[in-house]
Amino acid sequence: MRTRGITIGAVAGALILTSCSGSATEPTASPTHDPTASLTATEQFVAPALLTVDPSTVDGIDVEVDESLAKGHYTYVAIPLLPNGEDIAEIMRAHIEPRLQAFRDFEAIASDGVEPELTVSWDLVGASPDAVGVRLASAEVGGEVFDGSSTTVWIDVAAREERTVLDLFDPDTYQEVLDRIVAAGSSDPRIDTQMFNDQMDGEWEAFDSVAFTPEGELWVEFDRAQVATSTAPVGVEISAEGVLSEFGLVAQASALSPSDPLLEAVVAPQPSETGTSTGAPPLTQTTTGDTDCAVEKCIALTFDDGPVAGTNELLDILADRGAKATFFMVGKNATANPDVVARVAAEGHVIGTHTWDHPQLTRLGADEVRSEIEKASDAIEAASGVRPTLLRPPYGATNDTVAGVAAELGLAQILWDVDPEDWKDKDSAIVRDRVVSHAHRNAIILSHDIHPTTRGAYAEIIDALLADGYTLVTVPDLIDDLEPGRKYFNGS
Ligand code: ZN
Repeated sequence: MRTRGITIGAVAGALILTSCSGSATEPTASPTHDPTASLTATEQFVAPALLTVDPSTVDGIDVEVDESLAKGHYTYVAIPLLPNGEDIAEIMRAHIEPRLQAFRDFEAIASDGVEPELTVSWDLVGASPDAVGVRLASAEVGGEVFDGSSTTVWIDVAAREERTVLDLFDPDTYQEVLDRIVAAGSSDPRIDTQMFNDQMDGEWEAFDSVAFTPEGELWVEFDRAQVATSTAPVGVEISAEGVLSEFGLVAQASALSPSDPLLEAVVAPQPSETGTSTGAPPLTQTTTGDTDCAVEKCIALTFDDGPVAGTNELLDILADRGAKATFFMVGKNATANPDVVARVAAEGHVIGTHTWDHPQLTRLGADEVRSEIEKASDAIEAASGVRPTLLRPPYGATNDTVAGVAAELGLAQILWDVDPEDWKDKDSAIVRDRVVSHAHRNAIILSHDIHPTTRGAYAEIIDALLADGYTLVTVPDLIDDLEPGRKYFNGS
């Protein structure tokens, strides 16, 4: 039942619409001015009780990432891509799309410099040849309202079909499961009894996010404002003893003893959209690393939001031409593609941090900003051996708090002065023309290596820049003596 997740999203959306429609009165269930409103998509649901699976368990796992920098509708959505799992990705997209659409249709306004923002983040909660579980958590900020929800998608790998929460349980035990949830919820001080009872009246409609604890017990999550008025979303632990169905048992095993799902291909692989230049071999540059940009005509290419497996296509294009670039990586994506992180560093490019899971940092307190940056730096350093000294704040959103933390952590803030809007126009020719026509000496160019259309544009872009006499350098080569905390838009 895909509609179950949609229903909960629609409830949350209704809360936002009510509280932002100009009325001074707020709905009683609206979690406005919540002290936990600064939590990120990942953090808001993470409880020690939830068991997550290390993505490196799955050979060849990748991430699909999309971002919109449109003012009023900042979005960042990431889902895991299992090898040969396009049909499984489609199931996840079907859960997310209504949520994204509702957000796009909703006209919120920026508040205190914070743009309305929707982030969808993922965790593997099970992986085996029998079952895959993916928990999709979304965090939404609109005006003063913060909303969050989670949905856990369970896939029967052999059938390649989604299983509902009900499918986890032996039908003879449905009432027993509900009784256990009621018992756990009734004794949880965070839970509002009236709201909880209202939810339980709908029985199973209330539950679309069930996974496991490290002990193999059940972890049942509620969305924000579903059963508690003003706290973060809550989950309750219940015993799994005697209530799991056959599929529930393999799901439990996929959480406790994860292994590679080894999916068989069911669709023909799509041809890569890597840009290929025909004719003569490309120009190459030979000077890197010790370039003097006071003498040379330098320019810095920067790529955000990866790494993804497709980043390799871009690395091939750069390597063929001897060009260097700077990659601002999302820490969570680095954990799914550590080999790409290592290759980027090994080939002489520079890696900066783009935070752990891409929140708008201007809505976070200093501790959360620090945690977002440090967690990402840890992942990047683990994969590459190098700790970043550059920060690109997601959406370019920064303030004094972010600057202060960046200074403390030794990170210069690197913005940009050329934006081809490759996130909006996913068309290689448009991206190429915009970059080439706006390129100028000492520019910092923003692009996103997550898009095949962007990767497909860069062979021709680099050829054009080299033909125009540019030397393509990393940001630290472009700008000497970068100062931690300071913002840079270009090298001039
Ligand atoms: Zn980004």
